[in-house]
This record gives sequence, C-alpha cells and structure tokens, in this order.
Amino acid sequence: MLASDAIATAVANAWIQAKDTSGGANANYIPALATVDPTLFGISVVTTGGDTFTAGDATVEFAIESISKVVSMALAMDAIGAEEFHGKVGTDPTGLPFNSVMALALHGNKPMSALVNAGAMSATSLIPAESAEHRWVTILEGQSTFAGRQLTLSDMINDSEQATNAHNKGIAWLLQAAGYLHADPMGVCDVYTRQCSTLITTTDLAVIGATLANGGINPTTQHQAVTADNVPHILAEMTMEGLYESSGDWAYSVGLPGKSGVGGGLVAVVPGVLAIAAYSPPLDERGNSVRAQQAITQITRTLNLSLYRNGPRTVIPEPASVLTTIGD
Ligand code: GLU
Repeated sequence: MLASDAIATAVANAWIQAKDTSGGANANYIPALATVDPTLFGISVVTTGGDTFTAGDATVEFAIESISKVVSMALAMDAIGAEEFHGKVGTDPTGLPFNSVMALALHGNKPMSALVNAGAMSATSLIPAESAEHRWVTILEGQSTFAGRQLTLSDMINDSEQATNAHNKGIAWLLQAAGYLHADPMGVCDVYTRQCSTLITTTDLAVIGATLANGGINPTTQHQAVTADNVPHILAEMTMEGLYESSGDWAYSVGLPGKSGVGGGLVAVVPGVLAIAAYSPPLDERGNSVRAQQAITQITRTLNLSLYRNGPRTVIPEPASVLTTIGD
C-alpha cells in the first residue's frame, strides 16, 4: 500500500474502532473540564513533510493542560542549556502522580521531571522574563511557534483552574523553600496555570509533535521552535514521564515518546517521520485519555512505528512533494 494511503486508512480505522469505546471520565478537579462533551473524539497525523491526515473532531479546541509542559521544558532548556536544566529540574521519572508531594519529599524536594507539575513550574520559572506577564507572553509565543498558528488562552478554563489550584500553589512554595523555583512562586504558579489553559486542536497537537519529530522545525511553517540538539532530551523525558504513571506501560506496549494532558489530548512522536495526536475527554484513573490511547496504539501497530521494532515501517519518511505524488 502507498504511504499516504496507509496513513489515511490507519487513521480512519482507528477512529471507527475507538469511537464507541466507553469508560473513563472527564477530569473533574478542574470544574471547567468536567462539563466538556465526553463524546468528542479527533485524530490527526502530521508528517515531517507537513502532510496531515485527520478523522473526527480534529478541529475542535480543547485545553492543552499538561502537554504545555513539553513547550516550557523546550523554552527553558534552550535558554539555559541541557546540562544546567538537568541539574536544576532533574530528568528522571517520579513513578508517582503528576501533582504528587510525596515525589518531592522523596528527593529533597527536587522536582525530578519537567513533565510533572513541580518540575513544570520549575522549568517555567527558568524561562527568562522580566515579569510574570512577560513570561506568559513568551510561553504563549513558544506554544504558537510549535503549533504553527497563533494560539489563545481560554479565559473560562483559566478562571476555573486559577480558582481551584491551591494544591499547585502549595507545590510552588515547597519548591521555593528548597531552592528549585527561580522566580516569584505565586507568579510562576499563575503563569503555569495559564500555560495549561491554552486552547489547541488535535491537529495543532499533531503539529507540535511533528515539530519534535522534525528536529525542532515546525513542518508547516519551517520556523524553529526548539534547538535540534535539545529535541532528543525532550523525547527521552516524554518516554519516561509523558503518560504519568503509565509511561512505562506505554513504552512497553506502544514504544513511542508521548505526552498526555488532563484535557484529553495525547500525542506520540516518531522521530524523523511523523506525530500522531488524538483527543477525547474521558480519562483513565491515571489521567490519560482512554480513546486517544486506544487510537494511537492501533495506528502505531498498524504502521509498525514502535521505536523498538526491527524491520521496515509501512511508512517511509519522504518529503511532502514525494508523498503526494506517489499515488499518481
Ligand atoms: N493544569 C493541570 C494541573 O496542574 C494540568 C495537569 C495535567 O494535565 O496533567 O493540575
């Protein structure tokens, strides 16, 4: 089968297979997320050549949530360098929930990973800025460069999160006390909460992933979102901590770096080839979208995309011009 046909068929089949899957529940600790339509379900694949394949609700906007941690990690790492980032934030999985205080206590209040709330706030605090507002603008710009279009904040979700983020404020103060926060704690927590409330579509999410697959260059705009040398560090961290306490299970069964958010988004990256994103609000008990996991697992297996697999992939990385002309 031809490459683009194979992707299109895999995406369509995965959507059909997963659309009636039940189970899971919307995140409800953030009131605005609890009321999102749980039947929404979109899939999008974007290749490093910029080709896009979608199914379902791929253009519906939702909150980026924890996936914002990937962008903040990239911005902080580009600003201070991978070595310093490693020392200041840490790059190991915690094996505990994303907002765990126990994970901090076990390591002298060092956050360990930029993909849990503590490490994400630490990373956010390392992004150079003159004020919290400046830091927020820098992050929104970074998110937009990754997505290839101007993204916006959901005031509704941000207000809801700001009103219910006492736990994250507590984490910010613990980090401050231990020397792992590098700006005003409440300013950092405010910016972190805003960065989680940016709206993206499933296709935006696939473009963000495809930018990482493409050495940090957005394949739809050709803009550099992150230094190529830092991409492997980010993908390694996504492998270790991208799906909360399911990260090991995901690596074992799917074999791709990924990142999920409690808004229902999930993206997986095949370096040099493409990214697969899926969105559906109901989450399993660890915070990962039930339908998104099913769909991405199926597409990965159908196209032989696991990083740990020997043998040819069905999809051979080609420039967009070649992919679109192969079928003629
Ligand atoms: N804003 C959410 C929080 O800090 C993000 C959590 C997530 O998506 O994992 O709790």
